[in-house]
Amino acid sequence: IHKRVSKAAEETPRLLCTLRKSVQKRREATVFSNFAVEKILQIDIINLSIGRGFNASVRCCRQSEREKGDETMQLMEEQIRKNGIVRAGNVLKVDSFLNHQMDIDLFNEMGKEFYRLFGEEHVTKIVTIEASGIGIACVAAQYFRVPVVFAKKSESKNLDGDVYTSAVASFTHNKVYDIRISKKYLSEDDRILLIDDFLAKGNALLGLLDVCQQSGATVVGAGIAIEKGFQEGGQLLRKRGLRVESLAIVDAMDENGEIVFRRQ
Ligand code: 5GP
Repeated sequence: IHKRVSKAAEETPRLLCTLRKSVQKRREATVFSNFAVEKILQIDIINLSIGRGFNASVRCCRQSEREKGDETMQLMEEQIRKNGIVRAGNVLKVDSFLNHQMDIDLFNEMGKEFYRLFGEEHVTKIVTIEASGIGIACVAAQYFRVPVVFAKKSESKNLDGDVYTSAVASFTHNKVYDIRISKKYLSEDDRILLIDDFLAKGNALLGLLDVCQQSGATVVGAGIAIEKGFQEGGQLLRKRGLRVESLAIVDAMDENGEIVFRRQ
């Protein structure tokens, strides 16, 4: 598939169309293509795993759109390099622009990028988890023009009894808590985009996925600001078939401030 995809990328859109049809028919690959075939200038392999079966995900996009995505990724990486502090226990502290003080220009670029990536998925709701996911989700929601629902981490008098819940092990607080979303705000007609600030071991996203699935809603994917690629969450969720798009992926980091990003 690798060979066929790169060949197709170099050649005509007609070939791409043939490729797409053939991979779909043979169920060897899932092609996420949001654009008309004539407009595709670039094709990326976003996930390729060859195990007992044969499995590949391919995303097609316009060259110009791809460049916009690269700019957002560079902005994120610059901020992390400049202001991120690596703490013991694989924690990346980004309090100055993401988790405490918030850089709204950056959030705006992130929102735009999530819309570029998921804008054609007919998203009806963005679901996130308190607290740090809320700001990013709200800015992104202005592009999607949909409501944001955030999962609560504690019981609240504002939440009546009828809730979907799931147990989540917290990466940063080292404890297990129940997340809750009122049944009123999720339905089987919803097409949900999950958004969060960090992806580490994947527990927060798995919990969100679980509550959304309890409601019968469709989850179209997850938009993440920073993925720590050296932890297992990204691989786990992608293997489950969830489309995960991370704006920056940290492949390695150490307490001397060395941070290595994955080229995407
Ligand atoms: P996971 O559930 O994927 O293990 O961790 C994701 C959640 O833990 C995110 O919602 C985020 O709030 C928090 N988190 C995980 N790793 C980090 C980190 O390195 N830095 C910060 N600031 N938060 C993190």
